[in-house]
Amino acid sequence: MSSASEPESPGRILVVEDDPEAAAYVLHVLRNRGGFDVTHIADPAAALARARAERWDLVLTDVEMPGMTGIELLEAVREITPQLPVAVYTAHPSVDYAVRALRNKADEFLEKPVRPDKLVETVAALVAKGRAAREAARQSVLAIGAHPDDVEIGAAGTLAMHRRLGHEVSILTLSRGARGGTEDTRAGESRKAAEVIGATLYHEDLQDTSIREGDPTIGVITRIVQAVRPTVIYTHSLHDVHQDHRNTHQAALVAVRQVGRVYCFQSPSATVDFRPTRFVAIDEQLDRKLEAIDAFASQVEIRAYLEPDLIESTARYWSRYCEGRYAEPFEVIREAAVAGQHELTPARGIVRGENGAGPAAPDRRTGPPRPAKEDHEDEHDRAPQPARPQAAELRGVPDGAR
Ligand SMILES: [Zn+2]
Repeated sequence: MSSASEPESPGRILVVEDDPEAAAYVLHVLRNRGGFDVTHIADPAAALARARAERWDLVLTDVEMPGMTGIELLEAVREITPQLPVAVYTAHPSVDYAVRALRNKADEFLEKPVRPDKLVETVAALVAKGRAAREAARQSVLAIGAHPDDVEIGAAGTLAMHRRLGHEVSILTLSRGARGGTEDTRAGESRKAAEVIGATLYHEDLQDTSIREGDPTIGVITRIVQAVRPTVIYTHSLHDVHQDHRNTHQAALVAVRQVGRVYCFQSPSATVDFRPTRFVAIDEQLDRKLEAIDAFASQVEIRAYLEPDLIESTARYWSRYCEGRYAEPFEVIREAAVAGQHELTPARGIVRGENGAGPAAPDRRTGPPRPAKEDHEDEHDRAPQPARPQAAELRGVPDGAR
């Protein structure tokens, strides 16, 4: 996982070069003049495996190599990590059509022999460019719930989807739920559920049924926000009969005021005013959601709202607003467009409702725009009718999954 707070080295460079003499020169210059952390691999296939398995700041590759050409390597690296810069260098810049193709695709194209200062300068610039792109594409998701199982019921499928796309996912559970079981049992269940989702769990110790909308709740959430640096937030809706849920919503909105994308999930205690406009198809994540909820075994026995058929049929119901058979619904508090970020809208992934197409965020107080309602219908007796979801699209692929 990347983090701006990590002290960063001048750069980890993977040099792919089958000619030992050329490799020795590049390694010498980059290490001694540039101070870079350089690894040399002669075999492009082995280099690709390393590119997949580790975090690098730059791949510097020769063009003509046995087994795999530089262009094949470049394309393969692009697939795995779109943000990782790739520089190509060759002694024969004009002869090969593949070289011309590389000119367009590579982040930098160098001709041998490369002067030492030019090499160091180019590599330093590419390292900086790659790091900036990586930070811009970073997606860190934080889901905030009042009690154990709140986040899982509301958003486990969507969180699992974020994980599948390589995003960092964290769950903050504010209380240990002493009123609903022994604290130790419920803490263990929360850990297990987070594991199923692939999330990092932050389990706080505010008092169940007495969670406040001001401090200490705001302070607790703020501390986790500073640690996680989320780009996406999921939390309770204000439209909920449970005071802990409403207060968590209010406190969270203060603590995450700098975060560009904020959504509210549905709890079993949501009121009919819960009015989602974003729907995430979770067909492939439903089993995982059920497994996460099943982790709360001590509760499943006594809580009807945790029963698998209810979870499933609720998800089945919400799918009427998007493509897919199962969905999770979200109210949109804020949806700032962030340039360069991976958008999570694969065909069967996150599909948005009527507000999802553009950066305009609905105002929570007035609510999202709704279609004109028919005269005989009361404000509350029907669910919102979003337009057909926008054609879904997957921009970018995860890079944090490694
Ligand atoms: Zn709750």
